[in-house]
Amino acid sequence: MSLLTFAKIAWAVGVVSWYVLRIPFERKAKRQRVADARHRNLREMILLSISTLGLGIIPAIYAATGFPKFAAYPPTVFQVVAGVVVFAGSLLLFWRTHRQLGKYWSVTLEIKDKHELITSGVYEKVRHPMYSAFFLWALAQLLLLPNFIAGPAGLIGFGILFFFRVGREEQMMREAFGAEYDAYARRTKRVIPGIY
Ligand code: SAH
Repeated sequence: MSLLTFAKIAWAVGVVSWYVLRIPFERKAKRQRVADARHRNLREMILLSISTLGLGIIPAIYAATGFPKFAAYPPTVFQVVAGVVVFAGSLLLFWRTHRQLGKYWSVTLEIKDKHELITSGVYEKVRHPMYSAFFLWALAQLLLLPNFIAGPAGLIGFGILFFFRVGREEQMMREAFGAEYDAYARRTKRVIPGIY
């Protein structure tokens, strides 16, 4: 098997693992009643589509067909190994954020019935560890797919979702939790502990 084929398979295994890992949490979250869904709107659906395009559709087309060929470059063993390690770390972090958020998790922005603010564990130092996990996944994609378009597509797609969403999510949380969220926001960063 060529290094390129191995890298593409590693990427696909990572994405499928993420999907499977999320199924039980999706079931759990669906059972919870939604108290505030004002932020679940068209804008959110467009942002989610852009993210899916960058993290899923563009790289899947590349992995299956090699398109766009003009943007291909030869992969190195180092980048592929690093990609596998980063993807594994991303999946571990995903799993931990889902375990902790449990029934409060949602694909779009929602406040659930009797929603509680989680501030411990992976939520102790950053307010958005699940988004940190998505950025790690996007970084793994950049490392695993040696193509100047399909590689960075995930960082761009998820980056757009993140930067257009995070302010609104924090505003929604502030409305729901008031001073408790303000204090939490003061002692934490968004996605990288101690930095941003
Ligand atoms: N931004 C978070 C959560 C993503 S899931 C992260 O990256 O880990 C999105 C939903 O999680 C939001 O609709 C919100 O209701 C909920 N949420 C976000 N932060 C939370 C927290 N600290 N405690 C409880 N629920 C939270």
